[in-house]
Amino acid sequence: SKHRKIAVMGARNVGKSSLTVQFVESRFVESYYPTIENQFTKQVVLGKTAYTLEICDTAGQDEFSLINTKSLMGVKGVAIVYSCVNRASFEIVELIRDKILDQLGLDNVPTVIVANKIDLRDSGINGGRVDSREGAELAARLGAGFVECSAKLNIGVEDAVLQLLKRIEGIDGDL
Ligand code: GDP
Ligand code: MG
Repeated sequence: SKHRKIAVMGARNVGKSSLTVQFVESRFVESYYPTIENQFTKQVVLGKTAYTLEICDTAGQDEFSLINTKSLMGVKGVAIVYSCVNRASFEIVELIRDKILDQLGLDNVPTVIVANKIDLRDSGINGGRVDSREGAELAARLGAGFVECSAKLNIGVEDAVLQLLKRIEGIDGDL
């Protein structure tokens, strides 16, 4: 099978580890994942091709952090995650994207922007809501894909990964 490495980036606490564990192990643990970097592998099939995805679940970024060079080594695509009930995590997406491009020395890299925690949207929990339109607009401006997810309810998680893989492989539309 073909080997592809992707990285999951974004502010702390947006659900990067929860999304990764949901995708790789099909479970959600309502618990605190330590803020460390972890590698996972998972087999996926896209069309008729089998892929081994290596997924780097990063520790998270903020405006001051440098991106770990090792986590980006060999990366073919990135998922940048924000929480749709935390505006600060949305506002840092573009900066994270810029840092990634800077680090890779590229003008562009296949990217999917993930709006996570959509199950909390109507919950009253509010660190500054971000509506779908804003997320979609940012993604369009950055030339990235956009997927709304809930790691908790397993909504959109597989779709996000497959969209990213399609972007990496240059595949348009359905297979
Ligand atoms: P990370 O720091 O970005 O890796 O975030 P974690 O995966 O550790 O998640 C941070 C917190 O948000 C934890 O308490 C998770 O249980 C919670 N969480 C993650 N994803 C979701 C989601 O989709 N919905 C809800 N309600 N909580 C989530
Ligand atoms: Mg984490």
